[in-house]
Amino acid sequence: MDNHNTENINSNFIKEIITNDLLINSKKETITTRFPPEPNGYLHIGHAKSITLNFGLAEEFNGICNLRFDDTNPTKENMIYVDSIKKDIEWMGWNWHNNLYFASDYFPKLFEFAVTLIKSEKAYVDDLTQEQIREYRGTLINPGIESPYRERSVEENLNLFKEMKDGKYEEGSKVLRAKIDMQSGNLNMRDPVLYRIIHAEHHRTQNKWCIYPMYDFAHGQCDSIEKVTHSICTLEFEDHRELYDWILDKLNIHHPKQIEFARLNLSFTVLSKRKLMKLVDEKHVEGWDDPRMPTLSGLRRRGYTADSIKNFCTKIGVAKRQNTIDISLLEHSLREDLNKKSQRALAVLNPIKVTIENYPDGQIEYIEAVNNPENPNKGHRQVPFTKELYIDKNDFMVDPPRKFNRLTLGSEVRLKYAYFITCKKIIHNPETGEIDELICTYDPNSKGGQSPDGRKVRGTIHWVSKPEAIKTQVRIYNPLFLKEKPDESTDFTLDINPNSIEILNNCYIEPSLSATKPGDIFQFERLGYFCADSKYSKDNNLVFNRAVSLKDSWSKINQIK
Ligand code: ATP
Ligand code: MG
Repeated sequence: MDNHNTENINSNFIKEIITNDLLINSKKETITTRFPPEPNGYLHIGHAKSITLNFGLAEEFNGICNLRFDDTNPTKENMIYVDSIKKDIEWMGWNWHNNLYFASDYFPKLFEFAVTLIKSEKAYVDDLTQEQIREYRGTLINPGIESPYRERSVEENLNLFKEMKDGKYEEGSKVLRAKIDMQSGNLNMRDPVLYRIIHAEHHRTQNKWCIYPMYDFAHGQCDSIEKVTHSICTLEFEDHRELYDWILDKLNIHHPKQIEFARLNLSFTVLSKRKLMKLVDEKHVEGWDDPRMPTLSGLRRRGYTADSIKNFCTKIGVAKRQNTIDISLLEHSLREDLNKKSQRALAVLNPIKVTIENYPDGQIEYIEAVNNPENPNKGHRQVPFTKELYIDKNDFMVDPPRKFNRLTLGSEVRLKYAYFITCKKIIHNPETGEIDELICTYDPNSKGGQSPDGRKVRGTIHWVSKPEAIKTQVRIYNPLFLKEKPDESTDFTLDINPNSIEILNNCYIEPSLSATKPGDIFQFERLGYFCADSKYSKDNNLVFNRAVSLKDSWSKINQIK
């Protein structure tokens, strides 16, 4: 394995906290965690880390993991995202059983909580504009200034808040704020906004509500309603924990423990829904499920397996400090998984014609090929061999360097599973000067690639039968970003790799792949792992995505030329 700085999930600090909590509190036998996505985009590999952690902990401690949609902003959310998120979590192999919730289901309860805070003089309606609120908040150096509306009576606040709910006011004209401390060293505690007015249709509650809770108000209270025991979130919420605790204390309701961990950052990748949305909207990619995207739908389409993603998330572990994981570790997980599972096949991506001049015209001979050397139970298949074949262009060189152990003029190589061949002649295209065809001979006594007399050949190359092979398109993906940390650029779209996709239209695969279905994954021998594309593959017209190359060539930037 590459030399990556990983921490083992088996010893992560969150597990230690949970184990201790269960020991101390003998009444609690198990835990409840939750995964709380906002349905405003598709899930990405960062979410997979959170999913694996939350569902994984629940499984390990015999507890429950709720799937709760944090749908508190009607302007950005919709059902398409809800459905895609569910699909991705199921694909990962997790099950929320009956524990599917929506923050919007709690709107009446959350409203009641807000009223309780008003009644205990812990919240007030403020008429300052958004900009004024920001100005009055102060900075880390300067204390904030109290709003002139801060001392409204309980009765007035209750009335105004009800009127806000009843739609009497314009967006932005009023908000409900917590009454905490404008001098606090934690900016989140300087009378944070709890509710704002939004006149927009919500994808579930339609027009029933026109006031919506802010994340900080909704999140903790939803956790509490669901009797979550451990509310695990990413580090940017560390500064919000004081507020999380404050509201729960003031309401005197079930109080989950918030624990923060470092979010996943991946080299050569952006992992923020806002940025991924920009890639889609500005058509830098073909959609959320473009195989170059780090979304779960994109990775799946490219050929990533759920196991490979789970293994990756487990391997990288859970840390308390920010770091960036090398993308080659993600690829490594995929190779490791597919090496065990995938059916092998012969394919030629950049064909050059080979004619075996001493092979009988019109003959088709079936050669036995191994389906998966890692799993002998997978058996063998028959691959047709004929006089005319294709080999890959880069397996032949006219003027090879000394260590080149593939085919050259006058040299002998093994065609995998088949025969030894020797190149006798190169035929050039008279117009372009390019190589049109290689004339070779074969040794009939080397069937199965076995040496007839102990003589050695320099190498083994792959091939397909020209008349029997199936023509396909293959899509090779290169990194979407040229910079290791595109997130740090002022405009990350300037770092997009203009050559992130190469489309090869003249590729050939062995005929045993004729029944390939979208989503099927193969190892094309010596080339990498390839997945039949679920969007572009049609019955007689297969399109393959290269999921990952066979070897880690990240440093060189993968390219098949
Ligand atoms: P983004 O920053 O991509 O927009 P988000 O945090 O706004 O993500 P949510 O839908 O709110 O997206 O996330 C659901 C859960 O997934 C949250 O608990 C969040 O902390 C977690 N999560 C999001 N991104 C990552 C990441 N890169 N690594 C680990 N967990 C993440
Ligand atoms: Mg969020």
